[in-house]
Amino acid sequence: MSAVMIARKVRKWEKLPGKNTFCCDGRVMMARQKGVFYLTVFLIVGTCSLFFAFECPYLAIHLSPAIPVFAIVLFLFVMALLLRTSFSDPGVLPRALPEEATFIEMEIEAANGNVPAGQRPPPRIRNVQINGQIVKLKYCYTCKIFRPPRASHCSICDNCVDRFDHHCPWVGNCVGKRNYRYFYLFTLSLSLLTIYIFTFAIVHVVMRSVDSGFVKTLQDTPGTVLEVLVCFFTLWSVVGLTGFHSYLISLNQTTNEDIKGSWSGKNRLQNPYSHKNIVKNCCEVLCGPAYPSVLDRRGLTQDDLPVPASTATQSNPVPQTTKTTAPLIPNEHTPDDAKPSIADSAIAHAEKRSPSPKEKSPTPAKVPPLASPETDVEASIIIAKEKAL
Ligand SMILES: [Zn+2]
Ligand SMILES: [Zn+2]
Repeated sequence: MSAVMIARKVRKWEKLPGKNTFCCDGRVMMARQKGVFYLTVFLIVGTCSLFFAFECPYLAIHLSPAIPVFAIVLFLFVMALLLRTSFSDPGVLPRALPEEATFIEMEIEAANGNVPAGQRPPPRIRNVQINGQIVKLKYCYTCKIFRPPRASHCSICDNCVDRFDHHCPWVGNCVGKRNYRYFYLFTLSLSLLTIYIFTFAIVHVVMRSVDSGFVKTLQDTPGTVLEVLVCFFTLWSVVGLTGFHSYLISLNQTTNEDIKGSWSGKNRLQNPYSHKNIVKNCCEVLCGPAYPSVLDRRGLTQDDLPVPASTATQSNPVPQTTKTTAPLIPNEHTPDDAKPSIADSAIAHAEKRSPSPKEKSPTPAKVPPLASPETDVEASIIIAKEKAL
């Protein structure tokens, strides 16, 4: 009797290097720290349950049966948006493969030249032009990539996130390019739900007090006091947060950019992503195309992919990777001699990253002469490669 070994299929989410947790075989993705997220769910579900238990029966009979119906619809809407924000990929960028990281390091070292011992090497920065504005692409030492414009590394999730807004412990996830609109709609609908419950809880107390007195009403419905208190304190924070994000959306700006003052007058930089029109900015942020995840979390790792019979015998062990086929800087799977320089890759990504017509065509020709000597060295590398061919 021969023993048959059945290899377990390994999906890419199992090998992702960031500090995320996954469930449902990679379909659900969250940050590792989820304590505050459970508190959010508890507060919403708890407050709504008290409202349905204490106020809704009375209000449905004495005021209108539409009150509990609308509350249920709003509650389901809030929960759906919360789970959509919390359980999705916010726009995590895959890290560079080892060979790609080596290639980038080589290019950077060649560009920087020999830095004398004791001197700090120059900062790893590339410049791209977006809508007439020079934007710096910073190198991420953890992910080994030059981050696309507006991306930032979340220290809690340990990932670079595209159009990073902020890490929100209340939703237990980063808020970025792929889940920002759901996060905003969540805060907006939660504001409405809080105002709704707060208002009708007070209406309920007033109506019952007329019949049976204020003290008797509070004794009969002890949950009402708790509800009013929770809603009162939630109102300030949630409504304030919604107002703040409405302001950011009208400017097409992220929280991260606002905190850093990226486009403040101090730096004399204009926000190159803004259409200078509130309606256009809102449309782009809230109604723009939905971006697919570039992580391919449920894809099989290279070792588990089916190998064609002709090449099975000469298979080359490929390091396990989280890389997808999606074009990301600088992870282009191109032959070395055809591989563009990092600045070119970044520009190409900047071109692809947004449907905004304003952002298009920062072509290599349009890149201003990069003030740093890196460009000259890069050019010399490309010329040397061409000569070698
Ligand atoms: Zn990073
Ligand atoms: Zn995060």
